[in-house]
Amino acid sequence: MDPETIQKTYAVVPGLNMGLFTPKDLGTILQIINRYDVPATKITSAQRLALLGMSEEEMTALQKELKSHIRKTAINGVHYVQACPGLKWCKYGIADSLSLGKKLEELSMSEPLNAKVKVGVSGCRMCCTEPYVRDVGIFASKKGWTLIFGGNGAGKPRIGDIVAKDLNDDEVLVLVKKCLNVYQENSKPRTRTARFMERFGIDSLKEKVFEGSPKE
Ligand code: SF4
Repeated sequence: MDPETIQKTYAVVPGLNMGLFTPKDLGTILQIINRYDVPATKITSAQRLALLGMSEEEMTALQKELKSHIRKTAINGVHYVQACPGLKWCKYGIADSLSLGKKLEELSMSEPLNAKVKVGVSGCRMCCTEPYVRDVGIFASKKGWTLIFGGNGAGKPRIGDIVAKDLNDDEVLVLVKKCLNVYQENSKPRTRTARFMERFGIDSLKEKVFEGSPKE
């Protein structure tokens, strides 16, 4: 396409609770989409709905109308949480990934994280949310959750390291926070967890997070 014919357009991305929304919410969003004649919509890799191709004015107006559906950008916490349907909605699910995902979305840190932190939670070992290539990845087995840290699925991919297995919800939340604290204290701004872990190493991370703790 001739670059001169490409028109700059804007997108609105309602942050839907881990990709989950009620039929009522969907109806409301659809009505708004139709009213604004939105040219295209897309489910993003982060399980969000992107409304594409609008002018700046339309984007501002749409943002106002969709206010209650747009997830506030986390200032101190994680960038986004992907969670699979899990125990509640998937026949293979053995643990409630949506409930754990919600708790992780609400995780608050004492200061802004050094870079984006993406989280994937899967309700069984099939790992549909790709937890091995997320900054924080979690999947369920019959004995409990496995926590993985430092994965990345982008241009320089990295398989994350297993921090601990057989965890319950509370243990996951405590350990995720500890891993993020160690990452915060030992990495430079804009360094993703994958690059941090290449340098720092899983043994050093475990040493820090399990200091004085029997569970490993
Ligand atoms: S990870 Fe397991 S529980 Fe989650 S959607 Fe995939 S198959 Fe279902």
